[in-house]
Amino acid sequence: MKGILTGITDLVFPPRCLTCGSILEEHGPLPLCPACEAGIRHIRSPLCPCCGIPFPSTEGPDHLCGDCLTAERPYALARSVGRYEGTLLEAIHLFKYRGKPGAGKVLGKIMADFAGSIWDMEAFSLIVPVPLHSKRLRQRGFNQAVILARVIAKRFALPLDFTTLKRTLPTVPQVGLGRQERSANVRGAFSAVRPERIAGRRLLLVDDVYTTGNTLAECASVLMRAGAEAVAVLTLARAVPDPGGSVEASHAASCSRPLNPENFNDWRS
Ligand SMILES: [Zn+2]
Ligand SMILES: [Zn+2]
Repeated sequence: MKGILTGITDLVFPPRCLTCGSILEEHGPLPLCPACEAGIRHIRSPLCPCCGIPFPSTEGPDHLCGDCLTAERPYALARSVGRYEGTLLEAIHLFKYRGKPGAGKVLGKIMADFAGSIWDMEAFSLIVPVPLHSKRLRQRGFNQAVILARVIAKRFALPLDFTTLKRTLPTVPQVGLGRQERSANVRGAFSAVRPERIAGRRLLLVDDVYTTGNTLAECASVLMRAGAEAVAVLTLARAVPDPGGSVEASHAASCSRPLNPENFNDWRS
């Protein structure tokens, strides 16, 4: 019966590509046309095993980047599905700015598929989305990170906590700020209002985009100071400086080593 109904619905409202809107004759698990699906540029090895930034070279092993060699990161590791360009950029803009919060379910599914393919999700005890300031939340009407995190939490039957970590100061968008200004912009902007809820727990911090990493690092610092055992970061997209325009199509995804609770502390190895 459900199949018949779906068939009728598809006749009246044929499924359309999430990003370009073209009618889909048939599609895989995601409502994307082949061209848009091919426009997702996945982040693959070689990359930094700590912050997850991919290197311009398409050859060689993963290794720590200069920033991770010289500065301690508050998170154990960070990973992103793909580069913040093409289909992912378009889909995130539709989702956040053009009144298509429903796209979040599709994007959350992409993130859940990715997370499940690289990590043993049982290593996590709690999913924490990056909060929006209440003023921004009123403007937008929803927090994109909560929508994405909810899909991931549901998939892996993990609890979701979107009330403990708060954005207490409004911040200006990081775009256009210098390196030091970005860091100062988010410093002190977050707090953990009920630290007992995260104490001793292994957290997966979720956001839509890793741009400079400052916001995510600040959130991870606050969570660690509040007593979290460890924090890993997952974002859908990551802004990657890419002067060479290299495409790493044929490389195996990195970090295929499954994680379990015993080796959580080995994430940085
Ligand atoms: Zn399309
Ligand atoms: Zn790094």
